[in-house]
Amino acid sequence: AANIPPPIPVWEQTPKYTQIFINNEWHNSSSGKTFATYNPATGKKICDVQEGDKADVDKAVAAAKEAFKLGSPWRKMDAKERGRLIYKLADLVERDAVYLASLESYDNGKPYTASYLVDIPGVVSVLRYYAGWADKIQGKTIPVSGKFFCYTRHEPVGVVGQIIPWNFPAMMLGWKWGPALACGNTIVMKLAEQTPLTGLYLAALTKEAGFPPGVINVIPGYGPTAGAAISNHPDINKVAFTGSTEVGKLILKASAETNLKRVTLELGGKSPLIIFSDADLDHAIQTAHDGIFFNQGQCCTAASRTFVASEIYDEFIKRAKAKAEKRSVGNPFDLKTEQGPQIDDEQFKKILSYIDIGQKEGAKLVCGGKTVGSEGYFIQPTIFADVKENMKIAQEEIFGPVMSVIKFDSMQDLVEKANNTIYGLAAAVVTKDLDKALYVANHIRAGTVWVNTYNNADPAAPFGGFKQSGLGRELGEYGLEAYTEVKTVFIAVPEKNS
Ligand code: ADP
Repeated sequence: AANIPPPIPVWEQTPKYTQIFINNEWHNSSSGKTFATYNPATGKKICDVQEGDKADVDKAVAAAKEAFKLGSPWRKMDAKERGRLIYKLADLVERDAVYLASLESYDNGKPYTASYLVDIPGVVSVLRYYAGWADKIQGKTIPVSGKFFCYTRHEPVGVVGQIIPWNFPAMMLGWKWGPALACGNTIVMKLAEQTPLTGLYLAALTKEAGFPPGVINVIPGYGPTAGAAISNHPDINKVAFTGSTEVGKLILKASAETNLKRVTLELGGKSPLIIFSDADLDHAIQTAHDGIFFNQGQCCTAASRTFVASEIYDEFIKRAKAKAEKRSVGNPFDLKTEQGPQIDDEQFKKILSYIDIGQKEGAKLVCGGKTVGSEGYFIQPTIFADVKENMKIAQEEIFGPVMSVIKFDSMQDLVEKANNTIYGLAAAVVTKDLDKALYVANHIRAGTVWVNTYNNADPAAPFGGFKQSGLGRELGEYGLEAYTEVKTVFIAVPEKNS
């Protein structure tokens, strides 16, 4: 939460950018089709957006390919100049932060305070981080045998397809554009159909920043049409995807069946948060609360399995309930709101059905479980106690404000239980005992481990999943690997010297 309240939100009823962005120009869809985007707080339509499909992806890929051609302005540009353009884009995002945060909350439903304090600053910081990398991506010289000089170049992969979800629309865009542009690639991005508006506005900012035409192309559209056209496209050299494990598998399969485009995937999770008996209970409860309820529970890293030591279990449940019941759910534009609506009717119904399943499986509904208000997709912060590790609500990703608390007695089988999932995105431990923290940090099969904190992400630190939570890493120096091909060059030399 902020100490200084964010500025008053500003947004228009009819957003300006609703078309397909190719070659720095706005286009209608080839099919003539449009689709509606809705305000999840009311369920009412915001506006119609051009619906891109395969024909539009083809156009965008042609533009991206042209922009990547040898001798193009983008290919001839100094690396430092690429960095300057990315810095410029970050400045423009910062200039328009109030508008962008407002638009994000309007289209996604997340509290405006979160959009303004987390999402939009997240875009700015990841762009600035990668802007700095642009002229620091270096190969090596290698002492090979024989009379040869050997060096490597880290070249851009080429045309990259990027498919993003609706839970952090602008931030996921930033995570994908930053490294792709720093490394010199060109982009065809498909926005999530639920939340196309901020991505289109950001597309307009890239033109203002001065990126050459075709370097960044942005398509609003659906997954099975526009998304599949990207994952199957023969001229796309790499695809970066964030979304469900189910669709991630389709993307990888499409790559295998077409041109072996490089694939990175950021997928689902069922992350354990382990609270030991020595923990500061207030801090532990706050961590568990924020870990699951942040962003309406719509986080791939959500703390969706809370393991609590038996000695403190009853007290934890009592106080976690009191805290959940105080959480303010409602209008995203009210600065006091902590929790907005779920994204759409489909997710809303899915979450309610898991709440039903949890009760039928015999978990104890401690609080919540109901909808809030008469319009929009609001669900009460919900806590289940007495959850057993094999229950559906402890195994499947709910993607909603549902905490599932599992009691544990000893350290012995704890890590095994925590690892009992197909996922491996994140994990956390709350304890003052360094040995316990390190034991968990070393034994958990997950891409990120948080100790006495939750949900930290930083542009400089890698992020990604073990097991079925993903493939490859985003962010940090590691995140550059996905956007470069390493080329080895041997040169015969007349003389060799060590
Ligand atoms: P979620 O359940 O969070 O919406 P999805 O994996 O369905 O997760 O969606 C994430 C992104 O993947 C969205 O942009 C969506 O349109 C896209 N998508 C969905 N199906 C496909 C598909 N078959 N091929 C490519 N992209 C898809």
